[in-house]
Parts: sequence; C-alpha cells; structure tokens
Amino acid sequence: MNIPMERSNFGELLSYLSTRKTDMVAQVRELVVRESPTHDKQACDSLASSLAADFQRLGGRVKIQRQKRAGNHLQVDFEGAKARSSILLLGHYDTVYDLGTLKTMPWYEEKGRLFGPGVFDMKGGIAQIMFAIQALKDLRGDLPRPLTVWLVSDEEEGSATSRAFTERLARQSGAVLVCEPSGPRGALKTSRKGVGTFKITVTGQASHAGLDFEKGQSAILELAHQIRAISRLTDLRRGTTLNVGVIRGGTRTNVVASQAEAEIDLRIARKSDGAMMERKVRKLRPVNKHCNLSVEGGVNRPPMERTKQVAALFQLARKIALAWAFR
Ligand SMILES: [Zn+2]
Repeated sequence: MNIPMERSNFGELLSYLSTRKTDMVAQVRELVVRESPTHDKQACDSLASSLAADFQRLGGRVKIQRQKRAGNHLQVDFEGAKARSSILLLGHYDTVYDLGTLKTMPWYEEKGRLFGPGVFDMKGGIAQIMFAIQALKDLRGDLPRPLTVWLVSDEEEGSATSRAFTERLARQSGAVLVCEPSGPRGALKTSRKGVGTFKITVTGQASHAGLDFEKGQSAILELAHQIRAISRLTDLRRGTTLNVGVIRGGTRTNVVASQAEAEIDLRIARKSDGAMMERKVRKLRPVNKHCNLSVEGGVNRPPMERTKQVAALFQLARKIALAWAFR
C-alpha cells in the first residue's frame, strides 16, 4: 500500500496541526465533559449523536447503528480521491468511568497535559481522528483514499454488540488503524496476544472428615492435581501462558470437599495455538477416578500476529512520521 503524499507536504501538515492545537484541546474537552460509561445507554447515545454531528461537519456520511440496550455505534464514511480499498479508523467512545466521575476527577490542563475521565482511553484518540481528517481535507482538498471511522459504545465491556460489525468492516478494509492510546513512549502496537478463559469444575464426594474420611473424594485435592497439570501447559518461549487466577471450593474444614473450581486465563501469541490449547485443556482427565471434571470456555480473542502485511504497514507509518519529524 502506498499513501501518496510528497515529502514536502509533511512539514506543512505539522505546522497546520500546530496552529490547531487550541482547537484540538477544546475538542478533547468537549468529548470528556460528555461522560459516557459503557452501561449508560442514554449518556452514550447523547455523545454518539454529538459525534455524529461533528463528523458530518467534516463531510462524512453518518450511519448510526442503533442498539436496544447498548449505546448506539457510529459509522462514518468519507469518500477518497481514488476508488481504492478504504482505511478503517477504529475506536470506542465509551469509558470505564461512571456518570458523575467528573466531580471527583475533573477536566484540567497542566504543563501541556490533559486530565479527566477518558482523556487517554480514548477520547484523545477520537479528537486525533477528527483533526487528521480535517488536516488532510484543508491541505489537500480531499482524502487520498476512502476512509471509514467506526466508533463503538461497548468496548470496555467486551464489545458484545459491536464485534460483528467491527469484524465485517475490518474485512472490507485495506488496512485497519486502531486509534487507541499508544504504548509506553508512544510505541505503536504491531502485535497482541490472544486471550481465552476456562472454568474447570471438579465434583467429588462429600464426607465427614472425622467420621468417614475414607468415603470422601476431595474435589479440592483433585483440583490441586489439575492446577499442576494446567501450569505445565505454559510455554513461555512460545508465548503461551495459563494462569489459574481464581479458585473456589469446599464448605468447612471438617468436610471433605465435594466441589471445587478454578478460573483460568489463557494467552497465546499465535492463532493456531488457540485450538491446540483448547484441545489440551479439554483433554484433562481426573487423577482420582471418583471425581468428575468439567471444562468450559475457550479462546475469545484471537491474537493479532505481526504478519508481513502488519510489519509493512508499520514501516510505512514510520517512514511517514520520520519524513516530517526531521524536516
Ligand atoms: Zn480503549
């Protein structure tokens, strides 16, 4: 993919954006003072419609994906100079902060930094999207290629209602740029581990620890065996980890436990490892044949692998950034 923009234009772009700094800060503020916790549909919808108006002013075609319970999702399509595959700018406008957080965590600016609920994750990113589009339009008169902005309302709670839309839009696009905040020192993410969760439930046989200890089949002891087996599945070199993060079980000290369970977090670096790890966890068998084992769960987010295409896209972004940074 090549984004046509001559080297000389980047200095112009930077100085243009520098002159818009006050407006950018005002824009971030505007988004932050409109609180938008994921679970508050009314608050989310209200921000979504104000965003819709902003993007309409930028010349985008707004499509609101109405939701019954979640806040409405926002799709904005922009035409490009050439009819090539479009770029998807992906983000979310919900935050983890409840309504009223502004009272205890107010908006303010200090020493060139902005503070307030959602400034970092990711209302600042939304403002960046807006000004990037505005800058290209003001300086070039148009966008080099079609662009779709997709802002969802439920990212902080797992994207249940937006995921299918996001996947479809991503498949239709030539590239997807996630406008979430960067990593430490401004690093761009070019890969990310996949995530899964499992729950293992062990059923044994309860008995009184004093009267008939031998009749009991301890679910806790069995779970302990399983936890050891699970931890042996971790392969750090491969980037596969399993973490038993929560355990529960038993009722009293004088009762052999009939129930125990563990919740497990799985991380994988490669897509193909997902199915393999699911198989391995499901293949766990009780050490004590009198106990029963049930396994639920699996991979819920595949990893983003650093494919050749991802690396090439990063190199392109890097080249563009260097071109103007050292003018
Ligand atoms: Zn975020």
